[in-house]
Amino acid sequence: MSPCAICDNSSVPQQIWGNGASFRYSCPTCGEYFITLQALSLLNFHDNTVKKEHSAKISAYLKNRNILGLTPHIICQDSLSTQTVLFGISFDEIIDQFPKLISDRLDIVILNLAKLSAYSGDFIKISTNDYPLFYAEKNNATQIYILKQLIDEKLIELKNSALTLPNEVRLAPKGWNKVVELEQRGQKDNNKVFIVMSFDPSLVTAYEQGIVKAISDNGYDPIRVECERHIDEVSDRRIADIRKCKYVVADFTFNCGGIYYEAGFAMGLGKPVIWTCREDHIKDLHFDTRQYNHISWKTDQDLYTKLDARMKAVF
Ligand SMILES: [Zn+2]
Repeated sequence: MSPCAICDNSSVPQQIWGNGASFRYSCPTCGEYFITLQALSLLNFHDNTVKKEHSAKISAYLKNRNILGLTPHIICQDSLSTQTVLFGISFDEIIDQFPKLISDRLDIVILNLAKLSAYSGDFIKISTNDYPLFYAEKNNATQIYILKQLIDEKLIELKNSALTLPNEVRLAPKGWNKVVELEQRGQKDNNKVFIVMSFDPSLVTAYEQGIVKAISDNGYDPIRVECERHIDEVSDRRIADIRKCKYVVADFTFNCGGIYYEAGFAMGLGKPVIWTCREDHIKDLHFDTRQYNHISWKTDQDLYTKLDARMKAVF
């Protein structure tokens, strides 16, 4: 048993995972997560600022993913190392996506509580160790502050109204209305399909006549993003686009490295990814795609037909 690498709150088994380059933790505060050996040594480094200043934000991110039932990411020490880890996400990316506005955090908390409620009116037990559930960026005092905001807005109710912990919390009727509103808003924005592929000139017609046509014919809005060879250029904007889209079409022809990263990132967010690759490039793929639902295509028309069929079947 060793302390949770992120929150230190609990002693949990530290299990070697994968080929031995990562560890798996299952923490009552943060939930289940994976972390590379290098990221772990960075955290254990004396006076590490990631741990000192941002551990609560990382715990909040991990807790949220666990509540949503999303594929766990593997935490890496920096964005460079995420290139080599299919589901890698760096400390900086996790910290960057922590909502800056209190109102955005309150929205996530409401959705978290809705997910955890077995039925309307269900009380959920909370203690001082549940600060990640409330997107508290520091500690228990912030958790109380967030709780107070939600109570003042009549979105939640506490069993013991004294606002002390441990306690029990449930969504109030206004909170459930808010859940419906947030879900509807999410669906409206969710008509975009993110395309990630090489910009090689020989793929222009495959892009236009195959991928874009199939996406548009199925009523979605294609967003093209050029594959970037340098991971440093994967901007916040791209990450935000992937986060907002409904699903991703990733074409691996020419085997551009950035596509692995972006497809992995999308999968980590729980977005479906349709993997495609021109037949003559399948042998160059970095990993065995048989475990994924990939499309091997020969011509633009072939790509269109297969993609169209997959979309009709899946979405
Ligand atoms: Zn933890």
